[in-house]
Formats: sequence, C-alpha cells, structure tokens
Amino acid sequence: MEPFVYPDAAHERRHGPIGYSQHESYRPWLRDDFTFRCVYCLARERWHKGHYGFQVDHLIPKAEAPTRALKYGNLVYACEACNKMKSDADGIPDPCAVAYRDCLKVHENGSIVALNAEGQMLVAVLRLDNAENTEFRRLTFEVISLARTRDPAIYAQLMGLPEDLPDLTRKRPPGGNSRPEGIEESWRARRARKELPEIC
Ligand SMILES: [Zn+2]
Repeated sequence: MEPFVYPDAAHERRHGPIGYSQHESYRPWLRDDFTFRCVYCLARERWHKGHYGFQVDHLIPKAEAPTRALKYGNLVYACEACNKMKSDADGIPDPCAVAYRDCLKVHENGSIVALNAEGQMLVAVLRLDNAENTEFRRLTFEVISLARTRDPAIYAQLMGLPEDLPDLTRKRPPGGNSRPEGIEESWRARRARKELPEIC
C-alpha cells in the first residue's frame, strides 16, 4: 500500500541544529528531516492543511527527560492526532533506531498489523488501529489510487513534497549545527539542483 509503506531502515537524521530555547524553532529542520510527514502514521502535510496540522513531538516526554526537551535527537515530526494520542507515553520505539517497516504493515482496506512487540506498542499507544485511523488510510488509499490512474497531476500533488520547502541556509541555530553538510541535502537545496523526485 504505497502511501502507507513505512521506511525499511531506521531514519538517519540529516540535520543537527543545537541550542534553540523553544522546541518550535526546530520545526523547519524536523519538517525537512522527516520529509513533511508524520513519523508515526505517515500522514503528509499535503493531505492536511500544510504544516499547521503537525507538531514537534518529544520522543521521550518532557516530564521524563526535561534535559532532553530541547535536544534535536529527542524531537520528531508528528501529526496533531498522533502527538495528542501519544501524550506523555514513554517507551515509544525511536524511528531513528528501529525500522518501522519491521514493526507495522498497512493493508489496502486501511487496517494495520503489528509485526512485533515494538509494533504492538506503536499501535496501542497511538491507537493506529482505531476506526478513525483505519478509515483515513482506506479513503486516502482510494483517492490516491484513483488519482494515479485518472489524473497524474493530482497524483503528483498527493504524493509529492509541499511547495514551501524550508530554506535552512538562512537558519542560525544558537549552538551551531552538528551536521552542517545536511543543508546541502535538504529538500530545498535538492529542488534548486533539480533533483527533487516527483513522487516521494
Ligand atoms: Zn500521525
């Protein structure tokens, strides 16, 4: 099920901004790093109202690890629904340490199956198998399948990247950037070099 195929490897962070005093300041870096989609349910900005429906999520909750609240390595990009469901739950498998494809599989009818204990944890905490999530995946899959056969331009919009790719060259994290080379690999830099894939 193409729109809901989880990554087959643990996510490797491209960016390493340091020292912001607000977690919101990490948002453009996270959008780029996690390719403008929710790391947990794979919903894309383009299927919602752009990045307004998405949030900076603390992998280990602030209450559990206050010193990591502003550390980039503890932040991921998540949709509002997943962020809310997760709330203060601890122990969620880190998508940068675990390949989610080993944990979760989505079928064309929208149902989701946990493939291992980590998958069970993700499904249980994020309620990925509730009626709303299941129906969202089923309908999204139907719409994208229709677009693929009937309207390539709409299909490219649904499966492509948003227009407002963040310009990370202009960002100056107060504590520097542990992976400055990542900026050259940002989606905006790749678009400038005409390397952007139409479907992503
Ligand atoms: Zn989500």
